Amino acid sequence: MLNLIIFGPPGAGKGTQSEKLISKYGLVHISTGDLLRAERNAGTELGNQANDFISRGELVPDAVVIGMVRNYMISKEGANGFIFDGFPRTIPQAEALDRMLEEFNTGISVVLGLEVEEDELVKRLMLRGQTSGRVDDQDESTIRNRFQEYLNKTLPLQGFYTAQGKYQGVMGMGEIDTIFSQLCAKIDSAQAS
Ligand code: ADP
Repeated sequence: MLNLIIFGPPGAGKGTQSEKLISKYGLVHISTGDLLRAERNAGTELGNQANDFISRGELVPDAVVIGMVRNYMISKEGANGFIFDGFPRTIPQAEALDRMLEEFNTGISVVLGLEVEEDELVKRLMLRGQTSGRVDDQDESTIRNRFQEYLNKTLPLQGFYTAQGKYQGVMGMGEIDTIFSQLCAKIDSAQAS
């Protein structure tokens, strides 16, 4: 199996690059942001709980997200591989993911980090907020809060995966297709090794 994590701050382009990677490598997309928004739109209990955190720009509690990912992975048994987008976002989530993949007798192949500066991210998210309808893209203070959550809780994963020899960073600014080619090169060399 080819299992990828697409990693980076809010607005780094994880969703855009994921779509391209999915069609090239035939992977199943697991975006916890999309799954949480689908739960909220369906009006489930999980969705309602998560919405309070999302609208404040805070992370949803680990247990909620981990359980949701686990169920989704089980429902996609037989997949060629997964691309995890927006997950894991904390060290406990990363540890849980390693355990879940072990149950499937597999593991993470490579972690692709999109590296973008904060001011550029805020600009992109404010722009996206004009069309996305996402509550958390509307005002600068919520966006800055998401960025703070990223720095405090998610960025430590870079060290976690570097220690496993799996982290590969790519500059996330510039042309979408150029970034995509660089990501593909990282995947291909990880597969070859
Ligand atoms: P972005 O990366 O642009 O912030 P996402 O769609 O990935 O957008 O996430 C939106 C929000 O959903 C996050 O700010 C957070 O509240 C919640 N969320 C998504 N994934 C996770 C996760 N793995 N753990 C905790 N909260 C999450």
